[in-house]
Amino acid sequence: MLTSIINTFADRMAPAAVAGVYNAMPQPALAFLRNHNFRRTVRYVAKHSRFYRQAFARRGIDPAAVHRPQDLGDFYTMPEDITADPEAFICRPPSIVFESSGTSGKNKQVYYSQRELVGIGQLMAAGLHLMGIGPEDRVANCFDFSMWIPGMLAHYALMRSGNFCMAFGKVDPLEVYRRMRQYNFSVVLGEPTWLIRLTEIAERQGGVKLKLLIGGAEEMPPDAIPWMTQVWQGAKVRMGYGSVELGGSLGYQPCSAFDGYHMDDFNYLPEVIEAGADGYGELVFTTLQRRVMPLVRYRTRDVTRILPGLCPCGRQGMRMARLRGRRDELVVASGGNLYPLMFENILRGIPGLAHDWQVVFRLEGVREILELNVEAAGEGGRDDLENAIYRHAREQYPDLMKNLAIGIFDMRIVIHRPGTLRVARKLKRMLDLRYSPVAAEPAAADPACHSTEALHV
Ligand SMILES: [Zn+2]
Repeated sequence: MLTSIINTFADRMAPAAVAGVYNAMPQPALAFLRNHNFRRTVRYVAKHSRFYRQAFARRGIDPAAVHRPQDLGDFYTMPEDITADPEAFICRPPSIVFESSGTSGKNKQVYYSQRELVGIGQLMAAGLHLMGIGPEDRVANCFDFSMWIPGMLAHYALMRSGNFCMAFGKVDPLEVYRRMRQYNFSVVLGEPTWLIRLTEIAERQGGVKLKLLIGGAEEMPPDAIPWMTQVWQGAKVRMGYGSVELGGSLGYQPCSAFDGYHMDDFNYLPEVIEAGADGYGELVFTTLQRRVMPLVRYRTRDVTRILPGLCPCGRQGMRMARLRGRRDELVVASGGNLYPLMFENILRGIPGLAHDWQVVFRLEGVREILELNVEAAGEGGRDDLENAIYRHAREQYPDLMKNLAIGIFDMRIVIHRPGTLRVARKLKRMLDLRYSPVAAEPAAADPACHSTEALHV
């Protein structure tokens, strides 16, 4: 009853007021609402969703006895459960479907109602307000409007907040750059790699003063942030963490106190499971408000940790660290557990490198090859680049480099022209070809001859 009053109230409030209430709600009240809505969601899906009804019955789970996530034991919703039979999750007639971009080949379908979209727009408008967008701001919405979700959701948010906007979609950044002065945009929304391309154009042709660049859908390379701030004459760079399955943003960056995310723990119950000694594990969430296709303990495959304590900025609610990578991108190779973040750290601060990179693991006979593909702008300077990469690797990951020194694996650095590594929307950072047929091709002996096409899955 209490939560339905709050939810109804939130639907009608201005985004700034929703943000204000959210900021002020003390942690015990948030925890109470989270647990209450979790119980309600479990009972609801057990009644209305074929998938959950059958899964609970199979495992002998009594929904009425579930009070906390732990009461579900090792039950989780896997991404494969959605791809196998998305309609089994549907509890009420949907009005719209979105599909994930599908780096793994099979797209996941997620359904929403019109009312849910409006509600997500309201919350995202509150999130944009928290990240610094005011009523006077003019917004270029350059998130993708195709099968997946961010452009559309940002549009619902902008319609709710009433900001002047242009719904560009993910067009050629030059088209947006040409219109920046004409429409006097102060905020640009887009994927990090797209924002980087836009900033490259502005660096060559002259930047304008922007207030905010807001990215999502993948992490922003840390080196790119001060560069973007400089090119756009003081613009702040903020990120959101969302996905098609989340239907909005679970994480957002309203403050500069740390480089991770504040979490929306009013709409989601987040957990980190199978954590290592450092607290990093897989992020799992339960949706707390959705009614067409709620998800219970959905495994995101993203690796992060939940940060303890309150943020110095004073905002309530849970916080998560910057993503360490995808769980399915964790590769056990070269004598250790290798994450994308390791290579991001190694490449950080090396002059002459563009922002895209990819590591490919291959076998040549029995010998393991770690092939680090990077993009570099200038001709020459190849030795300097390689020396810098090896030096950073030795300084930061001595164990990895010790394994190299003693011959556990070979390492190669392959330099590509800027903008050539990425041919798909998402670039898989760690590609393990050791046990796939591609690794056996003769071309593997000469990495310089590889078509970049083969590096994408
Ligand atoms: Zn904060």
